[in-house]
Amino acid sequence: MSQTAGNFSQRVLDWYDQHGRKHLPWQQNITPYRVWISEIMLQQTQVKTVIPYFETFMEQFPDVHALASAPVDDVLHLWSGLGYYSRARNLHKAACQVVECFHGEFPQTVEQLSELPGIGRSTAGAIASISMGIRAPILDGNVKRVLARHHAIEGWPGQSAVANKLWDIAEHHTPDKRLPQYTQAMMDLGAMICTRTRPTCHLCPLQESCMAHAIGDTSAYPGKKPKKTLPERQVRMLMVVNHVGEVLLHKRPSQGIWGGLWSFPELRTDDSLDETAEAIAGTELYGIEAWTPFRHTFSHYHLDITPVKAFTAMETKTIQPVDSTCWVSIDNPGKLGLAAPVTKLLRKLAHSL
Ligand code: SF4
Repeated sequence: MSQTAGNFSQRVLDWYDQHGRKHLPWQQNITPYRVWISEIMLQQTQVKTVIPYFETFMEQFPDVHALASAPVDDVLHLWSGLGYYSRARNLHKAACQVVECFHGEFPQTVEQLSELPGIGRSTAGAIASISMGIRAPILDGNVKRVLARHHAIEGWPGQSAVANKLWDIAEHHTPDKRLPQYTQAMMDLGAMICTRTRPTCHLCPLQESCMAHAIGDTSAYPGKKPKKTLPERQVRMLMVVNHVGEVLLHKRPSQGIWGGLWSFPELRTDDSLDETAEAIAGTELYGIEAWTPFRHTFSHYHLDITPVKAFTAMETKTIQPVDSTCWVSIDNPGKLGLAAPVTKLLRKLAHSL
């Protein structure tokens, strides 16, 4: 570690000692398991949203054995509302691997950690440094922002050349001691001071050496993702209601959007509504009513959803539920992992009846 790096990390650590966060639930009783779960939850999600999810998760799955032996549906159910469900499926897969291949003990190198499903280099670095004290850099969104600004690194970090530069810088600044505190400090600095908009540079321990601050243009770093227009897709979701106030759901394939979650059967938009709705439901329908479409945006496309409400007069048991379909109470769908628009539509459906 060079003198400049030492100076950088020392300033960050001094700031952390005074101002950093030390009372978050995953900072108590630190274990690789707890750090791992918190890191995965914190990807794309804010701390205040994560806290209650983390606490419930720990109550239900207190260790890697409990998680590995739980049905994946229970994990998805607990994840409902956090979004990016592949995170939950990967957590479950990785827990099974830790139990099967490592006797329930997390591996102790960044390389082995990053081979587990859903654990990238940065998450592996966070687990290794925070819970094991290993010297490993991290580069999550917050840290990328701090480093890109401090060194005025041009370009979008999604490009590998830019990311590689930032990794080299992160590696260079990582100290030899107080690794758990330094990792947490860098995350806190990005979340609390070097914020996306209006960073509070006058409170920042790095202000005197920060190039973006010196240039007077912090908003130029990190570089923005080149804009592209998202494609649009249309789908109709069929909400078949039976005589006892239940609605038909089916389980989506594990690959693709909302993988493994429960959703309404879908109709293509170019098919005739009445005929295909009946073909899908396997029963005669009445009161078919298309609602106003709404938009759900994924990272790679917009999905315009037209909900279609319909009733069946047949007894529930006449339409035999198979493994991938079920009838659920509209008011109380129970412990199913539901796709986000389904939760919203169930509420609307309950009001419309
Ligand atoms: S001085 Fe400002 S822009 Fe530079 S690292 Fe600190 S908060 Fe970020």
